[in-house]
Amino acid sequence: MSATCLVTGITGQDGGYLAEQLLAGGGSVHGLVHEGDPGVTDLLARCPSVVLHIGDLLDGASLAAVVAAAGPDEVYNLAGISSVAFSWEQPVLTADVNALGAGRLLEQVWQQQERTGRPVRFVQASSAEIFGDAEVAPQDESTPLRPTSPYGAAKAYAHHLVGVYRGRGLHAVSAILYNHESPRRPATFVTRKITQGAALIAQGRASELVLGNLDARRDWGWAPDYVDALVRAARHQDASDYVIATGQAHSVRDFAVAAFARAGIADWERHVRVDPTLVRPVDAAVQVGDASRARTRLGWEPTVDFAELVGRMVDADLTTEPGRATR
Ligand code: GDP
Repeated sequence: MSATCLVTGITGQDGGYLAEQLLAGGGSVHGLVHEGDPGVTDLLARCPSVVLHIGDLLDGASLAAVVAAAGPDEVYNLAGISSVAFSWEQPVLTADVNALGAGRLLEQVWQQQERTGRPVRFVQASSAEIFGDAEVAPQDESTPLRPTSPYGAAKAYAHHLVGVYRGRGLHAVSAILYNHESPRRPATFVTRKITQGAALIAQGRASELVLGNLDARRDWGWAPDYVDALVRAARHQDASDYVIATGQAHSVRDFAVAAFARAGIADWERHVRVDPTLVRPVDAAVQVGDASRARTRLGWEPTVDFAELVGRMVDADLTTEPGRATR
């Protein structure tokens, strides 16, 4: 199958892995980037054949032009504000990009399908944050949405809108992604912050790591596995919602213990300081997903467990040249 694919957020962690997978599968890949996007150089080094288009989820006219120019069979919406912490600082912007932006893109994809008569498949990168501090664990596709962060509320709107367009006749999928990590994860996320910090301390280039809530429990998986789930979901005959998760939760503390041990530091607590200002106003105590539907219908399963994930990230940071942020 040589699909023409349009990926928003293509310069992010998931966008890069997705572009690589789609190209390896023989597809052609178009990407939406904004003017001056700092991730373009790295992306083009990895994937020189991607076709980039300038546009913005805040600007429906730009999306119309990009969708018309790319003529996609599949659209993957990975763009948006990705930080829950930042969404507390910019709740309205988060809604404009993550909620209304998804709506702007869905509408343009729908219009394109109507105009050309050629079906387009749409995949929304949704998030476990739509469940907020869920009463049930693990969460699945039938768990009630009750977000507790501006990020989660915006993602919940987009998730609902995907269902609305599915009802209208678009092959629209919402993949409810639990946290997924890799050596390409920016250090604004706790996993990479920890692995980078542990590596720097092991190398004698830093002395402490400052963290927030150590007790939060998250379901951390391997990002390329999650990207693979997006492609499987797009190409399955039925459009649906899918929880994508490992089913295993670990605390931030667990992550720090494992990462420091991997970096060869036994007394991790001596190097970690908790700063209450890094603790979020509301933070779900535990997020853990049940991906049974994806396993059954898509034949998907995670290939990297927690220990392996931590190991890969720490090892990558131990070998990263000083001054180079991501790999
Ligand atoms: P998120 O789940 O998408 O927000 O991913 P993060 O990696 O940013 O946060 C995961 C969990 O780690 C949340 O419960 C945070 O409150 C917690 N956490 C604890 N300390 C930190 C920190 O220093 N930075 C970040 N980003 N998160 C932290």
